[in-house]
Amino acid sequence: MIYLDNNATTKIDNMVLEEMLPFLKEEYANASSMYEFARKPSEALRTARIQVRDFLGARDDKEIIFTSCGSESANMAIKGVVNCNKEKRHLITTKIEHPCVLNVYKELEKQGYEVDYLGVNSDGELQIDELKEKLRKDTALVSVMWANNETGVINPVEEIADIIKTRSANTKFFVDGVQAAGKIPINLKSTNIDLLGISGHKIHAPKGVGALYVKSGTRLTSLINGGHQEFGLRAGTENIPYIVGLGKACELASDALDFELKEVKRLRDKLEQGILKNVFNARLNSSSLNRVPNTTNIGFQYVEGELILLHLSDLGICASSGSACTSGSLEPSHVLRAMGVPFTALHGSIRFSLSRFTTESEIDFVIENLPKVMDKLTKLSPYQNELKNLKGD
Ligand code: PLP
Repeated sequence: MIYLDNNATTKIDNMVLEEMLPFLKEEYANASSMYEFARKPSEALRTARIQVRDFLGARDDKEIIFTSCGSESANMAIKGVVNCNKEKRHLITTKIEHPCVLNVYKELEKQGYEVDYLGVNSDGELQIDELKEKLRKDTALVSVMWANNETGVINPVEEIADIIKTRSANTKFFVDGVQAAGKIPINLKSTNIDLLGISGHKIHAPKGVGALYVKSGTRLTSLINGGHQEFGLRAGTENIPYIVGLGKACELASDALDFELKEVKRLRDKLEQGILKNVFNARLNSSSLNRVPNTTNIGFQYVEGELILLHLSDLGICASSGSACTSGSLEPSHVLRAMGVPFTALHGSIRFSLSRFTTESEIDFVIENLPKVMDKLTKLSPYQNELKNLKGD
């Protein structure tokens, strides 16, 4: 099995699992309890918060709130800020956000909020001038993802944060950092970002744990009311084993960042070039430079993406079309549509996403076998004349 779908989810690092196991077995006490038996879980919670703080370059561990996933982090940030600023009725986001942001904005729009959705160019890059035009005195919140899950394209969120703060110190800025975490350096204390979400299962921790960075002084309501946990912002007995896993995963991701930026990128580039060179109907669907190091999104013109995925799956290769949340639907990706990817490539676009566990021999296998699959599929395509033109026959 060759797993090239690490933007959908990642395998748990063995070192993460080892750290978690004692808290799934013998150290099961509630971290809020007062007796000695609760000391280890309670200390583990503190350690994990510090590990996440350091990973994100936050100033204070009180700025880190543990959640159940990246989607909860986004919901908490957006709804929490909006609920605290009811007099401001304008919101900004982008057309290429993950559904966990877009669908919250759509819901707010139904409730009467005015929303501007920023576009991207054909490389998948945000247009800063459009943001400058749309910012208003009554903008409560701007949400921009740091890296896109489908293309890997990086948005200049640090620059955006500065622009927002110069215009209006009261407009809050949420960044979905789920696909940037562990792939590019993040140092929040040197930025004007107010809120940032991450997800454990994208960085080799288990599914079901995430975190939200809330800059000191940012007012927020909670999604889940109840006990005093997480500084009163997120009630519910803390999921210590998973939080411990997230903390360890953050520490390991910091250690592996150089490897990610050099070695994972080298393999991604090798895969990409190997495909673009050997498959005549392949085109890169994004900027080639401004991307996280592990992702490539390639459009195979005049061929159905689902067919490609099934044939790759027969070879044991896991990749995806669109995001994991929309796969299974035949709707073309909202991200590629926003980029204006031509219709001919829209339905045949495949995302390959690597991790630090991807090996050179796996990449070589794909480079050798994918052209054979495409050779078969292009022959079956109903667009023979168009393919001939493309080939230059
Ligand atoms: N944001 C982005 C950019 C993502 O890629 C994902 C997951 O695919 C999420 C948010 C949601 O994360 P989770 O699955 O932890 O809810």
